[in-house]
Amino acid sequence: MNQKSTVPRDAAAIILLNHEGDRVLWAQRNPQLAFLGGYHAFPGGKLEASDALVKINNCADAAELARFIACAVREAFEEVGVLLVRGGEKLTRGQRASLHDDLISNRMTFAEILEHWNLWVDAADFFYTGFWTTPKFSHLRFKTRFFLAVCPLKQEPYAAISELQNVEFIKPNDALNEWKNSKVLIAPPVLLSLKTLAETYTNSKEKINKDKQDEQDRKSKIQNPKSKIEVSLHLCVENLLKNAQKADGQIRYMELNPRVICFPLKTETLPPATHTNCFIVGRKKLIVIDAASTDKSEQNALHTLVDSFIEKGFACQAIIITHLHRDHFGGEMILQKHLQAKFGLSIPIAAHRLTAESLADKVEFQKFIEDGEAFDLQDENGADFQLQTLHTPGHARGLLAFYDAEFGFLFSGDNVVGSGSVVIAPPEGNMKDYLNSLERMKNLPNLRFLCGSHGSAIFDAKGKIESYIAHRLEREGKILEAFEKGAKFPPEIVQRVYTDISPALYELAEKSVAAHLEKLFEEERISYE
Ligand SMILES: [Zn+2]
Repeated sequence: MNQKSTVPRDAAAIILLNHEGDRVLWAQRNPQLAFLGGYHAFPGGKLEASDALVKINNCADAAELARFIACAVREAFEEVGVLLVRGGEKLTRGQRASLHDDLISNRMTFAEILEHWNLWVDAADFFYTGFWTTPKFSHLRFKTRFFLAVCPLKQEPYAAISELQNVEFIKPNDALNEWKNSKVLIAPPVLLSLKTLAETYTNSKEKINKDKQDEQDRKSKIQNPKSKIEVSLHLCVENLLKNAQKADGQIRYMELNPRVICFPLKTETLPPATHTNCFIVGRKKLIVIDAASTDKSEQNALHTLVDSFIEKGFACQAIIITHLHRDHFGGEMILQKHLQAKFGLSIPIAAHRLTAESLADKVEFQKFIEDGEAFDLQDENGADFQLQTLHTPGHARGLLAFYDAEFGFLFSGDNVVGSGSVVIAPPEGNMKDYLNSLERMKNLPNLRFLCGSHGSAIFDAKGKIESYIAHRLEREGKILEAFEKGAKFPPEIVQRVYTDISPALYELAEKSVAAHLEKLFEEERISYE
């Protein structure tokens, strides 16, 4: 694995409030992007060398932050067309557009543009709210410094580059409601920030309502709306910074929606993946899927989270293993024993019968799960929802996927993953079954998002599954062609068809070819006579 790629890159992002201070700017990343495609996020991006050349006034006590402020200002201009500089009010919208074009087309650096137009960045316009680091499971990682700023009057943010869409100012509570109803996926640090903003706004609104009793004070707030913003701004910055510092900028797990926690655990999985996603689905009534890590500190981190739910009186109904591969089991019996010892609970370990049979000498199972079986779960507020079981053989005979039909959220196991590729290796793997399973998942009514056992959640679930099917069928077409031209066995077919992979992967590719040949033979499209 490329070690260098796992070192977080420096980046900056901007939490941009509207001029009234009651809304925050978010935008949807283009669903085609490899990193968090389709997610809602704040404007931002990675630090560039030229950011150090931007002159920042009043930055004496935060000199090390200057280049990150410059980066955030440049990104805000590049991505949403907002120019957070002093002296910018003299520019017309047309002039700003022309400057934007100069920047995007690399005719001038941001520093050159500012100097040429006699504009400058003032550090007093930016409030540092801490940094967040992309978790280790992702092979594209950023250490992003966040700054809060207020949008200048007469500037309307817009999608200034194709990487973004649906740029809008939204009340933090409304943004959270979109997420609570599973309408959007939100980048983890953005979700944490929105929660903090929503909480701060609610609290300071209560304070302002109390202040209303003082008529004089109320009048002064109306005459000078900025005083109201300043209360919120100050508290927002304080709370955002406090939360980022408390977590040391680390994101240990992600809430994909209010019903689902994705807790990536370090496992011995196939590169480029390094982690297996453990899911906690439900809250007051929950299940744990793939508590797979054999690493003690990973197990402890998961136990701490599960313990916090049990201590609130929430009930764990089962610990589930999706399938027999070694990166999907290994911590479930330790979790079971831990919950027995600490709380006197007897939580069953469950899997499909075929998985349980294969792992009989390694794991003790108390329950089998069949296709169509539904788990009755509850969210944090005690609202009921169901998680349906789908038996989806192909990658493994006993592979289970799970579906929350109401939210359109699919747990696809190793059928479809956010990073790495899926191995179909006979006899455990079966290409015909696999394609049928993909087809079945693709046709789930209301399907919207999916999260596989490795990598990030995927915004366009249906499109992703369709691309998997298309990719397999394209490979199959080439395999059939090679076969017809005389390459009858996997090693020679791999040489002809898999021209785009490194020799280290030939062995896996040969298994894949064997799976395709098996399918073609079964369908009587090839014969060995
Ligand atoms: Zn697997």
